[in-house]
Amino acid sequence: MAAYTWIDHTFDVVVVGAGGSGLRAALGSAQAGLKTACITKVFPTRSHTVAAQGGISAALGNMGEDKWQWHMFDTVKGSDWLGDQDAIEYLTRNAPAAVYELEHWGVPFSRTDEGKIYQRAFGGMTKNYGEAPIQRTCAAADRTGHAMLHTMYGQSLRHSVDFFIEFFALDLIMDEDGVCRGVTAWKLDDGTLHRFRAQTVVLATGGYGRAYLSCTSAHTCTGDGGAMVLRAGLPLQDMEFVQFHPTGIFPAGCLITEGARGEGGYLTNSNGERFMERYAPTVKDLAPRDMVSRAMTLEIREGRGVGPNKDHINLHLDHLDPKVLHERLPGISESAKIFAGVDVTRQPIPVLPTVHYNMGGIPTNYHGEVLTKVGADPDSIVPGLMAVGEAACVSVHGANRLGSNSLIDLVVFGRAVGLRVADKLEANASQASLPKGAGDAHLARFDKFRNANGSIPTAKLRDKMQRTMQDTCAVYRTGPVLAEGVERMAKVWAEAPDVRVTDRSMIWNTDLVETLEFDNLLGQAVVTVAGGLNRTESRGAHAREDFPDRDDQHWMKHTLAWLDMNTGKATIDYRPVHTNTMTNEVEYIPPKKRVY
Ligand SMILES: Cc1cc2nc3c(=O)[nH]c(=O)nc-3n(C[C@H](O)[C@H](O)[C@H](O)COP(=O)(O)OP(=O)(O)OC[C@H]3O[C@@H](n4cnc5c(N)ncnc54)[C@H](O)[C@@H]3O)c2cc1C
Repeated sequence: MAAYTWIDHTFDVVVVGAGGSGLRAALGSAQAGLKTACITKVFPTRSHTVAAQGGISAALGNMGEDKWQWHMFDTVKGSDWLGDQDAIEYLTRNAPAAVYELEHWGVPFSRTDEGKIYQRAFGGMTKNYGEAPIQRTCAAADRTGHAMLHTMYGQSLRHSVDFFIEFFALDLIMDEDGVCRGVTAWKLDDGTLHRFRAQTVVLATGGYGRAYLSCTSAHTCTGDGGAMVLRAGLPLQDMEFVQFHPTGIFPAGCLITEGARGEGGYLTNSNGERFMERYAPTVKDLAPRDMVSRAMTLEIREGRGVGPNKDHINLHLDHLDPKVLHERLPGISESAKIFAGVDVTRQPIPVLPTVHYNMGGIPTNYHGEVLTKVGADPDSIVPGLMAVGEAACVSVHGANRLGSNSLIDLVVFGRAVGLRVADKLEANASQASLPKGAGDAHLARFDKFRNANGSIPTAKLRDKMQRTMQDTCAVYRTGPVLAEGVERMAKVWAEAPDVRVTDRSMIWNTDLVETLEFDNLLGQAVVTVAGGLNRTESRGAHAREDFPDRDDQHWMKHTLAWLDMNTGKATIDYRPVHTNTMTNEVEYIPPKKRVY
């Protein structure tokens, strides 16, 4: 192995990731006087949060009566009763304050005529426990994530967060007692290697949408934090639940926000029929994403798709006032023009369900502390390690996330992490020196890929993995096809050591970055299909044709999946769903049939 040297740093808190969740957590930690670093592989304002369009949910009641208890009910029902209700109470109760905080920091929200924050309708958000759609999603036109991210980056600079930009985090430093003691990183622009020692590491690395061939997520969404957790011998939770967004532009996959339907858009099949009226008579096109994606898939399967190959669906905005389109949906009007050549004021947009969000991730409690199962204790805290945002699984989204519930998850739980570290840590407390040989194994992995001299280019292996996921673990699933997925993924795993990296340099080596990212995706793809095959029921986004019903008796539990790094085999166990609420001001919402 080549000789490498470490540059060492010490902080109270190190946050990995500068998307909405990472920035909010770093900001809270710095505000509490803790010496805080934020490491990010891309410039903060290029994190995927910047692409969020439609908005952020909170029961502000600006467009008519609303209550956080209704938001809680909708989120529990949206999760198909897999969400932890204590965490869902925490989310929805704290949501309004989190949005006002963003407003006061300077997020330029769209406004009502009276000057209040504008709110639009979104799928599964209802009034009075399911009676009718409600306008609960706060929006800055269709560029809400952009507005939030830029505002929070400014605020974190103001609070002296120490940024390490274009640093690629490699792995967690764990000691022999299972305590997280820091993280290692490679600085992309000068090739130096860094060890960050910290009282607490917060993973805010986002989702792993890029495990699939077609997704709305940025190329950087490779689940690096989740992979670090698997390599540390810790489990990931509910990975079989992958959200397909109904309206990816056909065939490019770029997103058309659900806000388009929130503003009155609707879907039609080749007969020109508004088919959602048949599938969800009450809320129609504003049903949750899992239901709309399934309905679209069925329409196409039954021969009612549009286009020469009858392989997609039409989304209409052409009946809306062009002024509304210009004011509320300028970004997607542009995307439709660029990616589908469509003028939304006159023509429908061709759309198809596309991978969009990972409900699964690193298990945490609602303070952001990472959990693992030790003996009989399913909620054992991993000392020194926290997770937040799409990388985490709190779990508030359970089996299906409602649109606009992610942005609020980022800031509510980002804030919770800040409060927790403020409560638990002492600024500048002395830290024991790192365990002997800390980071050696990380370097060995790094060096192996840097000098990988096999016969298969990374892009080819990645393509195999992505096609396997797309073919075998999609909107509808069956046992035999998932079993085929497990087998095909095992083959990719077996071939991976034969990868070829051509660039050996340490500086701006994108070939090596992509290979490390592919390796990160691969482990998560493996546990995703394994979890899908294992769960013999249908719940939320996990729709098994061979097990069409939800089975609360056997399956109202979270999947925990560990990955054996030598064999590439997943081991599965479970955690119970929390059926307690956070306070006794609200009662547990018992499971019901999920109809809209
Ligand atoms: C197109 C699109 C539109 C969306 N619209 C909405 C919406 O309107 N409303 C809503 O609620 N949700 C929406 N979502 C979902 C939501 O935007 C995401 O779930 C959320 O923004 C994820 O934020 P995050 O902070 O977890 O991670 P991200 O914003 O993905 O950021 C991840 C961060 O981790 C860093 N990172 C990752 N790996 C490493 C590494 N190895 N080393 C160093 N740094 C690393 C990256 O540099 C980045 O800063 C949308 C998602 C997409 C893809």
